[in-house]
Amino acid sequence: MAVSREHRAAGGHASPAAGGPAHPAAGLGGDYIRLSDMPVDYDPFSPDTQRRICRQAADQRGVKLVSEFVDLDLSARKDIYRPGYEDGIKALVNQEIEYLFVPTVDRFSRRGMGQVGLVLDELEKAGGRIIFVKEGLDSADPNSRLIIGVLAERARGESDQISWRVQQFHETTRRMGLWARVRPYGYVVEDYRLKPHPGEALVVRGIVDEFLDGAALRAIAGRLNDDGVPCPKAVIQAEAVAKGHRVKPLRTTKWSYIAVRGILTAPVTAALVSHNRQLVYDENGDPISCGEGILTLGERARVLAELERRRATVRNAKDVGRIGMHTGGGRPAKYLGTGFARCGHCHGAMNRTFVGAGDKQHGVYRCARKGRGQGCRGGSIMADALENEIVWRYTARLAACEPDDPLVDAIAERWLSQALPASEADRKRLSDALEVAKRRIKDLYDDRYERHMFERPEDLADWEERVTRARLQRDALQARLDALGPRETLDIGGLLETELSNEAWKQTPLERQRDLLRLGVKVVLVYNAKRGQRAISDRILVVFADEEVPEPVPDDDAPQDARPLIAALVAEERAGARAPLTGREAAATIGFIKERQAQKLLAEERTKRAQGNQP
Ligand SMILES: [Zn+2]
Repeated sequence: MAVSREHRAAGGHASPAAGGPAHPAAGLGGDYIRLSDMPVDYDPFSPDTQRRICRQAADQRGVKLVSEFVDLDLSARKDIYRPGYEDGIKALVNQEIEYLFVPTVDRFSRRGMGQVGLVLDELEKAGGRIIFVKEGLDSADPNSRLIIGVLAERARGESDQISWRVQQFHETTRRMGLWARVRPYGYVVEDYRLKPHPGEALVVRGIVDEFLDGAALRAIAGRLNDDGVPCPKAVIQAEAVAKGHRVKPLRTTKWSYIAVRGILTAPVTAALVSHNRQLVYDENGDPISCGEGILTLGERARVLAELERRRATVRNAKDVGRIGMHTGGGRPAKYLGTGFARCGHCHGAMNRTFVGAGDKQHGVYRCARKGRGQGCRGGSIMADALENEIVWRYTARLAACEPDDPLVDAIAERWLSQALPASEADRKRLSDALEVAKRRIKDLYDDRYERHMFERPEDLADWEERVTRARLQRDALQARLDALGPRETLDIGGLLETELSNEAWKQTPLERQRDLLRLGVKVVLVYNAKRGQRAISDRILVVFADEEVPEPVPDDDAPQDARPLIAALVAEERAGARAPLTGREAAATIGFIKERQAQKLLAEERTKRAQGNQP
């Protein structure tokens, strides 16, 4: 955060930071909390959220909060008297406090730039500062002042601030173990706490009991459907419709094994709070509960252990590396190009199959639609040639990336969405909990030394115990945070030198290769040989993550002539770009000539080239 020391010096305030001697109330601050016309559901906790935000910011700056200024239920836009706001400014101008923490600019004033500008001028004279926490702005910083003005102007139309406040609201409710969302299946919500639903909780219990007795997920789903029990989505949606909400129609009201598994794995089945599929823990490191669970924590642990036990283990596979591994959500892909390679003429998937027989077998990717006889002009392409070409072009494209290349942005975005959410969510939750723990220690010290709440010996013993416990919590959280290691960042140069280097690539397991490819490649389009007029390199189009996928090209008529293609292949061969092809390989690459014909054309072309090179 930019704290402009030069600016303070120029204004006659020598103090370099909070706590300096120039300001009579240096290092002291207040927070400004305001409630406005939020949707009713979001209202009750808004002050807590704002207070938490301000406290965190004050702690970070080592500022002690000594006063709080509150305005309730008054719109910042209307020019009506707001005692909290006036008092806060007055305290700054009278140098009773040095800092005023305001959660966000739109909480402060929605009357626009002019009014805020006047206030800031007055503050500068007094050496007071307003910190707008969400925007990270400090009124003492000249760069911030302009932004504050602009934001105040924008805050007149405050709609874009709502989502941030809603997000903060949900963060607060999670910490407090409150349920402020649509009710989950199996529960009713009373005073923001969950209670088992008299009927649905029995359905959930039945699922759990059957499962622990050994029933398969599909069998449980079948039984529920036979009993005519509607699936959770259908129940919740019917309630939304009854309330007059517009909802997307459901495809089915029947249970699937996925719905059954959802019930078994959902943390809420034991009334645990979760966020992004991760449990939320309190400052002691215990999972936060949001009511009375249908299952106990022990039962939930048994269910999860049984699910884990039932996950299939690979016992037999061609690839030895897969043995002993778990099957994932689906069948793992066997080939590099599967899922990437698409027919350029119909955009249909390309299957990898084998042509030839015995030892002479080789793989080709072929348009699946054409393979099914559905009349596509797409052809087939030799698998090795395609896979090598994809990797070669990908690494070449990455190597050519400038730091501001749009592909770098696209890759970084994919990287974050694929690789990081779990560890980032952990980091956020732990560091939040750590803030709370530090705050608690500080409060305890204030209670003892500032507020003199622990004077008697028995109170003092109590205080010692509380502080020790709080310190242990803090240290435990810090240790867990440290264990997460440094935050991951994406280093494309590093990738090229390590995993994407030629030597390493060959050693990289297929799944990892596909992960790396997925980062930067949208799709690989393969066009037919255009009856011999399209060179192999023109048949392949790698569409990178920052590029648009071109339209399919269904019509593609040209006389069939393999000679230009053969010439291109031989040229690459002579340039050392590829190993000499056999007739069979050349035929498979080109796609529409027979092996014998390819052999003949190859021989002709090679002879011609050899003669052409002689003096
Ligand atoms: Zn096709």
